[in-house]
Amino acid sequence: MAKGRTVSANLLTNKDKKIFSLIEEISNILIKSIDDNDRKLEFKNDYTKLSHTRDAGAGRGGGALQRDALCTRGKTDKSPLSNRNLRWHPLISAHSKPSFAKKIEKILIKGKDENKKLFYLIEDLNGVKKEYSSEDTYLLEERYVVLPEHWEEHINILKQWDVEWSKNQSIIPANECCEWWDAVESYAILGLCQSVSLFGAKKDTLYNSLVNVLKNQKIDNNLDLPSKNFPKLSNEIFICPLCHLNVEKDLSLFRTSKRIKSWQPAWRTSKKNEGEDSSLQLMHVVPLNEKEILHTANYTRYGHRWCNVSMTDHTIAETVAFMKHVVKNYSNKD
Ligand SMILES: [Zn+2]
Repeated sequence: MAKGRTVSANLLTNKDKKIFSLIEEISNILIKSIDDNDRKLEFKNDYTKLSHTRDAGAGRGGGALQRDALCTRGKTDKSPLSNRNLRWHPLISAHSKPSFAKKIEKILIKGKDENKKLFYLIEDLNGVKKEYSSEDTYLLEERYVVLPEHWEEHINILKQWDVEWSKNQSIIPANECCEWWDAVESYAILGLCQSVSLFGAKKDTLYNSLVNVLKNQKIDNNLDLPSKNFPKLSNEIFICPLCHLNVEKDLSLFRTSKRIKSWQPAWRTSKKNEGEDSSLQLMHVVPLNEKEILHTANYTRYGHRWCNVSMTDHTIAETVAFMKHVVKNYSNKD
């Protein structure tokens, strides 16, 4: 079983490093917006702790905001997908080519035994063909996509792979990818939601400071931030996208039976409150798909776990229509 961290987890390009500096500035503004010193520390440990890596560090390295806003989800199966990686990582996989990525030319397999490695042949901006090994894919200068046609000739070999995958997990799924500024802006909006709702920060002052830091970014002089995806300050940022209660409101009034605790191995660090109805999870207001970049500040929100889980991969409108159907069926039986 392939496990562990993503390939090249500790390697960052110069641009990645600049993006991390901008995120650090945002984190400092978020922390400063909280008055109480103990609560500042709590916020820092749980939410804004930053691991300068592609995968938010081993275990609980980076805080919740880094894992939710900047990283793809963890995966540990026998596949070339990274076990968490930066959402702006350049190599993606998709069923069919999205408009925002170039097709790679070909996949090659080189090396022996456990050291077998995937190489991706690409044509660069100047029309020059180059090979990138799994561990070098983070250096690609544009976004490239690997499609089912590229895997076809290798399927029978790859079926036999097991430990080999751990050195080749360097692709992210197209639906979870975004531009670096989408990840940074989502970080700012999700951080605003947390610090105001749970830590008593003042929303107007904080929102304006976040806009200012984005405006002054020096990573790309041709880019105006905040982008058109950055939402205006409104109540909508602080409510759960499905039930519309403020995110700090817990859903315990909807639970009539007592929740019985189930055993957890005491030697394992349990994730704080993760199984609770009201623990906050990242929600995508529009479900992700491979054709569009949807992990953007206007669609990323925190919401209750119960609400998030009940949506599965449906839109809010579909979820509400389904709930209405269930309610109607039950009302008929009264
Ligand atoms: Zn909710």
